[in-house]
Amino acid sequence: MATRRSFIQRILLALTSVLTGSTLAAKNAANKIMTVKGFIDGGALGNTLIHEHILVDFIGAAQYNRNRWNQTDVIQKVLPYLKEVKEAGCSTLVDCTPNYLGRDVQLLQQLSTRADLNILTNTGYYGGSDIKFLPEHAFRETASALADRWTAEWEGGIDGTTVKPGFIKISVNPDRLSAISQKLVLASAKTHLKTGLTIASHTGPAVAALEEIEILKREGVAPDAFIWVHAQNENDWSQYQLAARSGSWVSLDGLRDTNVPQYIEMLTYMKKEHLLHRTLISHDAGWYEPGKPDGGNLRGFTTLFRKLIPALEEGGFSKLDIHQLIRQNPVEAFTIRVRKWTGG
Ligand SMILES: [Zn+2]
Repeated sequence: MATRRSFIQRILLALTSVLTGSTLAAKNAANKIMTVKGFIDGGALGNTLIHEHILVDFIGAAQYNRNRWNQTDVIQKVLPYLKEVKEAGCSTLVDCTPNYLGRDVQLLQQLSTRADLNILTNTGYYGGSDIKFLPEHAFRETASALADRWTAEWEGGIDGTTVKPGFIKISVNPDRLSAISQKLVLASAKTHLKTGLTIASHTGPAVAALEEIEILKREGVAPDAFIWVHAQNENDWSQYQLAARSGSWVSLDGLRDTNVPQYIEMLTYMKKEHLLHRTLISHDAGWYEPGKPDGGNLRGFTTLFRKLIPALEEGGFSKLDIHQLIRQNPVEAFTIRVRKWTGG
């Protein structure tokens, strides 16, 4: 009798775990961040570069082939730059190269180990004005079908590996959104609601960003799940206020040695408007390019640590402000959780 009862209990337990499987998965992901080596707690993120690229291949989806680069060669070229930025104080690098543009998660995993850096990768597609980076099925399939493909990478891993995306990366055209751009935004919204992954969208001008935010809200996704990538390409800074006050992240991610004063100005504006808590900064640097001799000229990742931070400190930014920009905001932005829009 006792045996039979425990047998029934075991069956019931098994059934319960099947039924609540997805809820449990969501619980495990709550308040965590996904790197190419698995979950980490937000506290382990440290100083973070939220938009960089290890490798970018501009050949286009039609001729795309991972044999166009040799992982050993890429590691040899890129590793010194990663060690350099680690030395400068960086703990985490968010790799924004999407599928069909050179996303190679095994390469990222190896670099993460050898540089002792956390690296995040992504799911999603790069559309925008140049649609040559989209696979043929992106035109044919519905937003739901694309969301299913992206969600499958979250649930089952990328390219037959156990590596999972840490966020969704899409790209739209830099104007009123084209039909394909709208579809990608819609697909990202559906993927977010299933996975809790944050949406980073290569956007540029505010006209596109604000339309994206409207689509997300219509789909029930809160703007704080959205990163307006390349916001520095919008010259009307009052638009940053509009987006940030809606909850969206404003990503000023084109920092380089030559534009530090302009970044100080933009960040001073955001501080004055009390919007530093919605602001992200990075370089959009790196870029090993297959097809170029020795991968071309890589740009290093250290301007933020070696030039911008000292200049901000001199310009009256407190340690707390800087902590917010390079630690606290990245944790908040990339923590995995579904952010539902419940407003009007
Ligand atoms: Zn980029």
